[in-house]
Amino acid sequence: MRKLEDCVFCNVENLDGEYIVYRDEDVIAFLDIYPVSRGHTLVAPRKHYETIFEVPDNVLCKLIVVTKRVADAVRKTLKADGVRIVQNNGRAAGQVIFHLHFHVIPFYEGVHSGRRRLEEQEGLELQRILSEALNYEA
Ligand code: ZN
Repeated sequence: MRKLEDCVFCNVENLDGEYIVYRDEDVIAFLDIYPVSRGHTLVAPRKHYETIFEVPDNVLCKLIVVTKRVADAVRKTLKADGVRIVQNNGRAAGQVIFHLHFHVIPFYEGVHSGRRRLEEQEGLELQRILSEALNYEA
């Protein structure tokens, strides 16, 4: 499995304080530690691919299916009124971490929350709720 030593998403499984909500052979999903909203989750391949242009189609298919499942989980368990799915390729497009990932961003009517650091208590609570909904043992 291709992993980069200095890539934060290649190493997400080894870090403390990362809130993994789903993992299978190819795909991992974890809470964004600077969430835009409650339940903001990232879905990434476990292997390193910089953008959508490098990832093989079969892995991309798995990624988008998990992305849909995560979006459905936040919609149902967190009662989100809407869910935005975003994927950035290249610095000019707003990509900050150069390891392919999809953002699943829940929206709640009337709630405007800016980006902030995820607090431990909320992180653990969301990890429990979402991993349970995704049948993943965190
Ligand atoms: Zn990586």
